[in-house]
Amino acid sequence: MEQQPTFQDLNLNTPLYNALGDLGFERPTPIQSQAFNVVASGKDMVGIAQTGTGKTFAYMLPILRHLKFSKQENPRILILVPTRELVVQVVDEIEKLAAYINVRVLGVYGGTNINTQKQAVAQGQDIIVATPGRLFDLAVSHVLQLKSIQKLVIDEVDVMLDLGFRHQLLNIFDVLPERRQNIMFSATMTDDVDALISDFFIKPERITIAVSGTPLHNIHQERYDVPNFYTKVNLLDHLLRDKESYHKVLVFVAFKKMADLLFESVEALYPSEACIIHSNKTQNYRLRSIEQFRAGENRILIATDVMARGLDIENVSHVINFDTPNYPENYMHRIGRTGRAEQQGHSITFSTEKEQPFIELIEAYMHEEIEVLEIPEAVEISKELIAEERPQIKERNNPIKPGKHDSDGEAYHEKKEKNRKENLGGSYKAKIEAKYKKPKTRGDKNYNKRNKR
Ligand code: AMP
Repeated sequence: MEQQPTFQDLNLNTPLYNALGDLGFERPTPIQSQAFNVVASGKDMVGIAQTGTGKTFAYMLPILRHLKFSKQENPRILILVPTRELVVQVVDEIEKLAAYINVRVLGVYGGTNINTQKQAVAQGQDIIVATPGRLFDLAVSHVLQLKSIQKLVIDEVDVMLDLGFRHQLLNIFDVLPERRQNIMFSATMTDDVDALISDFFIKPERITIAVSGTPLHNIHQERYDVPNFYTKVNLLDHLLRDKESYHKVLVFVAFKKMADLLFESVEALYPSEACIIHSNKTQNYRLRSIEQFRAGENRILIATDVMARGLDIENVSHVINFDTPNYPENYMHRIGRTGRAEQQGHSITFSTEKEQPFIELIEAYMHEEIEVLEIPEAVEISKELIAEERPQIKERNNPIKPGKHDSDGEAYHEKKEKNRKENLGGSYKAKIEAKYKKPKTRGDKNYNKRNKR
């Protein structure tokens, strides 16, 4: 068996060994041993790792190992994190690791007096840990000079982008020296994270740490090829009818808008059985949703990837990937929510034709194929397409009108003739109303009006 690396292999120095000794840490975690040389080399780096993997020390060990003592006032290391709680946590971790090193660390975040922070900055610092908004305010006030920054660390990038910090990050990049090392950590890969990397990073080294404790062997994985959004809704409806087996179901959807759309449909089909979390919901709403799901008051939780971060909910019977994650790492994060603590878990993935390449990536990543199931005959194949599924017509002034085939968007997964139930027009919402004889959403006044008639 391969020897597990030790801290001695990382060639640290006495002050760091002493601090690690005080903390009682015996061995580097996988992300720590893999990131050390990359961070030390000065190359850009992208680490895919969750909180709890030891990622803070993964960047701080090499940074503190090579940071030279200096009396200069301007900071040389900038660490950006999405929330003030994380600023406090990261500063605390750095202080523990730097217990025997003469290094000045300051945490700054919004919602507190900026003048006190300006005074602290003016005393001279080596490392600044900050939330993006406050950092930028301090930089434009010229109290904080960023021209000496050599290394930029951005932690929890996916959360940062999901909270809408992209613009602020770009503003910060603008005032940083061009020659710098970029180090980034994200628990999941998203298209936004990918775009940020390709725009601002130079040939980054990627290090991926699998979700700890995701025992694939006790997660039964299945998948369906489903032509479009509304057929996915119909299939989900079909599965959810079995309330006994599907007693705690976490449904993942990549985008907030789709999550909202799906929630509307599921609410109509299963009133008071579903709840939802994504970053446009208030903190209170999110906490309440999670609590209701945890306590079993709601059987179904619809969540986006980022919001389901770190959710440790027991006895999730099924994870349903309503869409197929573009990145295998996200698939692993998602399905890891079921089958915890040696229980048998189930994951079911729905994929359209467009999503097939992602299935291939996931299967290659796991070195295993996911069992494909046939859509049950009772499930209606919808022909209705949501805006995102309709073909894009790019040439707005094209005199030649698009042909019928351009706008129809045929379902690629055709059912046998005898099973084919055609959608004969009328909106899906109206159909749900008719089928379940309930308002589609609470307070749907039109429903009551229609029924009075
Ligand atoms: P993080 O992923 O950086 O939030 O770290 C998670 C927790 O693991 C923190 O409480 C760290 O102090 C702790 N930790 C970091 N590195 C190690 C290590 N090598 N051995 C044991 N615990 C560690």
